Amino acid sequence: MTALHIFDMDGTLLRGTTAATEISRRVGGLEALADLERGFAAQEITAAEFAVATHTLWGEVTGELVAEVVAAAPWIEGIEEVCRDIAARGEHSMLITMSPDFFAGHLLERGIEVVRASAWPPVPFAAPIDPAGILNPADKVRLAADELAARGLPRSACVAYGDSMSDGPLFAFLENTVAVNADVALERSARVAYRGGDLREAYARGRVLLDAARGRGSSAPGGATAPVRGPFVGVSAVVVRDGRVLFGRRLGSLGRGTWGFPGGKVDAGEDPARAVRRELLEETGLAARALEAIGWTSDVIPSSGEHFITLHHLVSATGDPAVLERDKVESWRWFAWDALPDPVFAPAASLIATGWRPA
Ligand SMILES: [Mg+2]
Repeated sequence: MTALHIFDMDGTLLRGTTAATEISRRVGGLEALADLERGFAAQEITAAEFAVATHTLWGEVTGELVAEVVAAAPWIEGIEEVCRDIAARGEHSMLITMSPDFFAGHLLERGIEVVRASAWPPVPFAAPIDPAGILNPADKVRLAADELAARGLPRSACVAYGDSMSDGPLFAFLENTVAVNADVALERSARVAYRGGDLREAYARGRVLLDAARGRGSSAPGGATAPVRGPFVGVSAVVVRDGRVLFGRRLGSLGRGTWGFPGGKVDAGEDPARAVRRELLEETGLAARALEAIGWTSDVIPSSGEHFITLHHLVSATGDPAVLERDKVESWRWFAWDALPDPVFAPAASLIATGWRPA
């Protein structure tokens, strides 16, 4: 199934600033704009009132000036690469912003497939602004829902990337959400968070959420749904050393070709912590020194239809891992949490999607 990636612009693709700020920085009236921004953030004025007021500040704006402002603005790194990857997978990219269309439209040149923005009169302004064309936070939900419906996609096939409470309604509507350099309130309502200057890293987190959602859907080839069996109780050993985590490339029928943590099923009557130590030793030869429960995830493994409740454990162990069960794991490798292997075994993907990360 294809997917839809929805990006916010101000604060998300534009790092630490907004289109309005960048325009006013150029044409003047930055202080008046800052007052308007504060008023909007405090919900004292609406998005339409904000737009009408900025329209009067921007009498000198031309298309050439906008192009220059766009070129000089502090964009997050990797926008083109992310858009290319989305398109190469047959997926779709969309920008939804409350900012003016004459500014946001430039993102089409950088690879965004669909841009939805507030409808302003053409620059230089000869016409007044029509408040009806100005988007508000609830419109983001409507436009996302329309785009999903037009493409026949469920909400689970959509990821949104945003930074502020104007993305709040959209984040409440969708299950896959990535907070990018976001304010605390939005970060709390997001599935995962990213802080930094590279959209590729935020997008990688979005992909993990999509993969986990696909795993939960457990669609077999041909569209038939595999019968789900279980639930089974599993354990994982998240072995962390020098900031890197141990993953093995799986060979068995369960998640073949994916990268997962050491682990396996809990035996009848077995304490889960003991199962972690046993599985780690059987598979890698490593003896766990300390164990700490992280949390659990619930996953239907797409390839087999088996439903696993996995109890994840943070483990410290010394020595080098060996491939002791050659029919189960091809090799063990250490990966930085910010450069994870692809694809990741569903229970590991779900743990990553919770936002947990090694200290
Ligand atoms: Mg924003």
